[in-house]
Amino acid sequence: EDFQPVNLQACVDEAMHLLRLQRDKTQVQFRNTLSGAITVRGDSQRLIQVFVNLLSNARDASPEGGEVVVSASQQDEIIVISVTDEGSGIAPEHMERILEPFFTTKEPGEGTGLGLSMVYSIIEDHGGHIDIESPANPEKRSGARFNIKLPRQPLTQ
Ligand code: ADP
Ligand code: MG
Repeated sequence: EDFQPVNLQACVDEAMHLLRLQRDKTQVQFRNTLSGAITVRGDSQRLIQVFVNLLSNARDASPEGGEVVVSASQQDEIIVISVTDEGSGIAPEHMERILEPFFTTKEPGEGTGLGLSMVYSIIEDHGGHIDIESPANPEKRSGARFNIKLPRQPLTQ
């Protein structure tokens, strides 16, 4: 592995930039609230791919004009990056299956079902974990939140 210090704010900015280049009728707003100080050891291209996948899923799930926010918090030596949307959330019966390759609820041609399985393997390779909350907003019973937990200093350094 060729892990380097990676600035996660820059990865999220790049993923948002790439998605804004795509044709999008949904008027979904992306907001990156990360500070410049959040660094992990990893592969920046693969971490950008993680955020492209999570943000595109969030956009697909969002209502027109919805907001998708990326935020960070810290638990001891773990950095938690959260991607939160205002969409319809994940049905409880789908929750166990969404990380599986080829699981999709999208129309044929709209989704391959490979995005989250890719996210899962990239995060595993970085010594991290994924935890999913849905609804993200219990009062409104809406939205999904994907929490990506990464060690500040992975064992693989
Ligand atoms: P795809 O996007 O091609 O369907 P993914 O692996 O990226 O494949 O996602 C699998 C499934 O997980 C989606 O089809 C959808 O049902 C569900 N999902 C993923 N992200 C969200 C989200 N933010 N809100 C609601 N459902 C989601
Ligand atoms: Mg996807």
